[in-house]
Order: sequence, then C-alpha cells, then structure tokens
Amino acid sequence: MRVLAVSAHPDDLELLCAGTLAKFKSQGAEIFMSYLCNGDKGHFEIPSPELAKIREREAKNSAKILGAQILGGLFPDLDVYPDKERREKVVELIRIARPDLIITHSPDDYMCDHTITSRLVIDASFIATLPNYKTKQEAHTLISPIIFMDTLAGVDFIPTEYVDITDFIDVKEKMLSCHESQCKWLKEHDGIDYIEFMRKVASFRGLQCGVKYAEGFRNYSVWGRIKPKRLLP
Ligand SMILES: [Zn+2]
Repeated sequence: MRVLAVSAHPDDLELLCAGTLAKFKSQGAEIFMSYLCNGDKGHFEIPSPELAKIREREAKNSAKILGAQILGGLFPDLDVYPDKERREKVVELIRIARPDLIITHSPDDYMCDHTITSRLVIDASFIATLPNYKTKQEAHTLISPIIFMDTLAGVDFIPTEYVDITDFIDVKEKMLSCHESQCKWLKEHDGIDYIEFMRKVASFRGLQCGVKYAEGFRNYSVWGRIKPKRLLP
C-alpha cells in the first residue's frame, strides 16, 4: 500500500492526519508526505527564504520520525492557484508517489492554500493517469481514491470515517512538535497552544467514535474513486 498525503503547508499533515499515517506505517504502508507551499509566510521577523529553509528542516525531522518520504515545498505560501503550471507539478508529484490512496484537505477548509491544494490534488490525480498528458514521469495506472482530512478545529466537517489513533497520539504529538517555528508563530500570532489544539480535536473525534483519540475523514465520493472496502487503517 502506497499512501500519499498532500497538504498546503509543512505542518498541516501532522495536525490533521499524522496519527493515521503512523498507523498505516505500522501496517507496512509506504508513506509520502507532501506539502505544496513552503511555509515561508508564517513568522513575524524571519524573512521568507530563511523561514522556508527552517520549515523544510522541521518537516524533514517530522517525516524522519515516521519513516516517510518528503515531497514538498513547490511554491511559496499564497502562491498556489488552480492553473496549468501548478497542476502539472502536482501531476508530476502524484506520478512519483504512485499512490493507492491520497489524503488531502477538505475542499472547504479555512483558507485559500488549503482549498486550492484540495482542488489541485483532485484534478491532478485524474490527469496523472492519462498517458497523453506528458510530464517527466510515466502516467500513474490508478485514479487514486481520495480521502479528505478534517478541517481546522473540525469546523463544519462531519466525518464519515474515523481512525482510532489512541496508540499513535504520542507519535503525532512528537511529529507536530518538530514544527517549532510554527508552534511559536501560532502562539504569538493567534494565541494558540498548537499541541493542545491538536489534542482537543483528536479527543473530540475520539469521543464521537468511542475511543480515546481519533482522526476524522470524509471519502471523496464520485464515480471512479469509490472502492468496495474501507481504505483507512
Ligand atoms: Zn496550512
């Protein structure tokens, strides 16, 4: 099983699906963690190029904990659009990972990098299977099923799938903690304790499905993407 998780920013996957990725990994899956934007805008003082490097290092540290491959930082923050150039890059990314399953943002999450990432992944994952759409990599052979991650703080998101991550909450926390610059930024810019924020949502999703900690998801249910079995661990 090959799982490609695509977020907008370097820390989104840790917040929204790292417990599930860790569970997948424990069952032998190969994990690709991808973020389209390089995270270069989230700080008061550190200039963008320097910040992008810090964010990349933090993402790598996190991926190392999981034993996942990183494919990311294609565009600056807020420079992701549903246009041809960017879509082609996401097609290439999907052709490199060749996923059996893609996890990405909900199409109606809270800000444009997230919603456009979702759009690009949906479109590119279909295009990635077309041999006549030429990129450096060969076409993927599967129109990958897509599963949407929770929205930020679970707002207006009713999961249809839950993953019990009780055994993986510590790994999730450790991975999220790797994003030190972001923990600091959210504290200073938004007054948020990032770890507590993550644990509250995991605890609430757990409450909904009768376990201590869970992550919530929704299937992207359109023709060609539906499988007659549960895809999440
Ligand atoms: Zn984000």
